[in-house]
Amino acid sequence: MADDKGIDSSVYKNPVWKVVLALLIILAFVYFFGEIFKTNEAIQRYKITYTQFSAELKANNVKSVTIRGLALDGEFIKSVSLKPVNDIRPRDVKNFRTFLPSFQGSDLIAQFESKNVAVDVEPEESSAFWQIALAVLPWVIIIGVWVLLMRRMQSIQGGAGGGLFSFGQSKAKLFDAKKPSISFKDVAGMEYPKKELEETVEFMKDPSRFSRLGAKIPKGILLIGPPGTGKTLLARATAGEAGVPFFSISASEFIEMFVGVGASRVRDLFKRARDMKPSIIFIDEIDSIGRTRGTGLGGGHDEREQTLNQLLSEMDGFEPHEEIIVISATNRPDVLDPALLRPGRFDRHIIIDRPGRKDRLAILTVHLRNKKVASEVNLDDIAKGTPGMTGADLENLVNEAALQAARDGKDRIYKKDFEDALDKILMGTKREESFSAEERKITAYHEAGHALVSFKLPYTDPIHKVSIIPRGISMGVTQFLPEEDRHYYPKKYLVNKLSVALAGRASEKLVFKDVSSGAQEDLKNATSLAEKMVAQWGMSEKVGPVSLGRGEEHPFLGRELAMPKRYSEDMAWIMDQEIRNLIVEAESKADELLNNNRSTLESLAQALLKDETLNREDVERIIKESESGARKHEAN
Ligand code: ADP
Ligand code: MG
Ligand code: ZN
Repeated sequence: MADDKGIDSSVYKNPVWKVVLALLIILAFVYFFGEIFKTNEAIQRYKITYTQFSAELKANNVKSVTIRGLALDGEFIKSVSLKPVNDIRPRDVKNFRTFLPSFQGSDLIAQFESKNVAVDVEPEESSAFWQIALAVLPWVIIIGVWVLLMRRMQSIQGGAGGGLFSFGQSKAKLFDAKKPSISFKDVAGMEYPKKELEETVEFMKDPSRFSRLGAKIPKGILLIGPPGTGKTLLARATAGEAGVPFFSISASEFIEMFVGVGASRVRDLFKRARDMKPSIIFIDEIDSIGRTRGTGLGGGHDEREQTLNQLLSEMDGFEPHEEIIVISATNRPDVLDPALLRPGRFDRHIIIDRPGRKDRLAILTVHLRNKKVASEVNLDDIAKGTPGMTGADLENLVNEAALQAARDGKDRIYKKDFEDALDKILMGTKREESFSAEERKITAYHEAGHALVSFKLPYTDPIHKVSIIPRGISMGVTQFLPEEDRHYYPKKYLVNKLSVALAGRASEKLVFKDVSSGAQEDLKNATSLAEKMVAQWGMSEKVGPVSLGRGEEHPFLGRELAMPKRYSEDMAWIMDQEIRNLIVEAESKADELLNNNRSTLESLAQALLKDETLNREDVERIIKESESGARKHEAN
């Protein structure tokens, strides 16, 4: 799908251009000043006015002159303090140049004779042309380079009205100012956001219907959601659905090129949108200008604040009945300036969440519209197996699968292609190097441990696949498949999840009487989960039902937030103990389970060493067989 961020504008950020420009400007200055003091000879010759010259002549202070056409070069007998033309302060002038008025007759020569001035006359310089050429040439070069630069930028921008000379103008591209060709039907799922925007579409189509009743339509809509969930897509589709021009700009573009023009860009953008109303203005990634002002966050960027202020005043400036809607998108609602969210500005918030299973199915269907898929493929299964994936992830999955099928020369996309593509996306590409038998064995027992404990404990996610094929950074993997998308995590589920996470290491400990560094990721995940349980979800008796913001993650970005500490050192210590307790308990539960099912662990590990990959059915079968075998053994 076309990306409306359009052409890469990195050239503006490229410092090379700035350096070249600066050099050119310096060159021009040097040249310009050089011109003032220009001399043809080695001697310093100042340009003086005719009046100054005339006064010195009357005072008998001119020694000699050389006349070339209208130019008169000469030498004073005594140097005089004069203020030369184009100079800022007086200088001691000995050699000078001035120009004669064209109507000066031969009586000047008579004057020279009477004052005993040595007169020389040279033909009007044939080199005059060259002098002019020399004076003009550098400018020609400078302007030429300038124009070239401008052209270059213009073509990179791809739009009329762009270019270096129009940097105060909005870069909202003109070609975007026509109706986008996509509509709501190209946006899969998202029932609720679409319904919210339906009203906007109705308003754009027939504004009078609303104004007759005096109803005010919210003019600022903020789309909030994780990256890749289709915010940009939805905004474009809204304009497409309403059939109005769509001005799209990324907020970072406002401030990217020259300092001091962000605000004027905003002004220009709104002016253009007004000229073409009804229209939709879309400001993507608004957090880059809309961060809380005055916090010093992001360096207290003055430029950004001015741009933001201009945006706010533009939004206040248009009337409720003006048919311009401003849609913006962000994945950092937490950093937005409250002034942006105030009623009358971006007061309508639409949350765009990661798609649920039904929406994932719809998104897959949309992206498979023009692709050939084998009938054995059950899209619902794929939707089920991709919890947490965004629209962009699913688009990528479909594309990977299609690539895979094409690479193998197939005429359709098969189930295996989807599975391989998913493995590749989730775990990285297979590594083809060979690993020592020892390492394979450790991996097999490690993964068998995860699988067995998750099978034995209640409330855990079902296994999807266990594999000891090294991929990406991991040597093996046990994949789980939640039955449904989860919205809540009960404590009993989390506690067992901890045990499953620690089971790989527990198995290594049991079998090899040693632990390896292979469990690093497991420990990291387990610890951060335990931290959340204790500090955020009130799951520890000792800490109690308080949320202390420790280990808090950004809701959309999954990165840890830098938050001020809201707990005492004592509380920190208690939390540390509680986190550790949870993990130690979970580990001993895993130890116990594996110890009690040692032979089953053995069978699973052997099967893995043999087949490398086991799916859910395989795991279940092996565990059943091993257990009934053991019972038979006991009975004898
Ligand atoms: P965001 O702006 O939220 O980061 P985008 O709108 O850029 O996400 O979405 C990226 C791509 O993901 C889109 O171009 C589209 O192909 C795909 N996509 C996301 N959500 C959907 C959806 N609901 N239906 C169809 N495609 C989607
Ligand atoms: Mg986007
Ligand atoms: Zn592990």
